[in-house]
Amino acid sequence: MDRCPETHVPPRAPEAPQNQRAGASGSCAGSGGPVVRVIGLRKTYPGVRPLEVLHGLDFTVEAGEFVAIVGQSGSGKSTLLNLIGALDRPTAGQVIIEGRDLSTMGDNDLAALRNCCIGFVFQFHHLLEDFTCLENALMPISIGRGEPEPEDVLRVTKMLRRVGLGERLGQLPRRLSGGERQRTAIVRALSNSPRLVLADEPTGNLDSRTSREVFSLMREMNRETKAAFLLITHDDRLAAQADRILRIADGYLTEEQPTGETS
Ligand code: ADP
Ligand code: MG
Repeated sequence: MDRCPETHVPPRAPEAPQNQRAGASGSCAGSGGPVVRVIGLRKTYPGVRPLEVLHGLDFTVEAGEFVAIVGQSGSGKSTLLNLIGALDRPTAGQVIIEGRDLSTMGDNDLAALRNCCIGFVFQFHHLLEDFTCLENALMPISIGRGEPEPEDVLRVTKMLRRVGLGERLGQLPRRLSGGERQRTAIVRALSNSPRLVLADEPTGNLDSRTSREVFSLMREMNRETKAAFLLITHDDRLAAQADRILRIADGYLTEEQPTGETS
């Protein structure tokens, strides 16, 4: 049975700062406009020979869209996603998430925005090894608001059941398969009901069958939760199933038409 015994209720996250609690400026109710607006975005990495990776990108992502980002290795895909996720600052230009210009926000507000509005999935799952599947999935709530409410535990448990992890709630990550870990990471990304999920090659570390399964699951969760997804992939067959494809080449962005192929 996939019941959720008391022992699965996670401990209070030790690092829940006051300024990230519910109602802080990071709360994300939805602006009604685009979820993401990128305007003239440039990024140059400093160094003896500075490297200009993004030469001025402009695009928007509307609520609920599923957008694939493609491009060769080193073309700047992760750089772009890190800027959108407020994990790094641009050299010039603006990123506006839910109507809020990240360049005007301080570190605490950015941390709160990341916690409430944005879910992250990476190539490596980054689950905490000492916490169970359920505890890991609840982590954004624990970090943002302190001890999760019983309704949070119930809601996240339901999501884990939805992605086929009902029997795995109490397992530690090392006892989960690669696909199960990544499904846990997807639920973790969605646990705070974000408006935006940023996924950097989430299937890059999986075999092709598991990769297709995890991708399909993200597509389904996108339709069910209405969260916008921006997903980096080097798999053209997966990208073909997105609503839109954005290709980065030579520091610029072009839009391609997805073919919708599923095989
Ligand atoms: P992608 O995700 O498309 O493979 P990245 O965005 O990771 O590409 O990197 C784009 C380019 O920027 C690469 O040439 C990479 O070596 C360089 N780069 C990435 N991060 C940094 C950094 N922190 N400092 C300097 N150069 C970087
Ligand atoms: Mg990358």
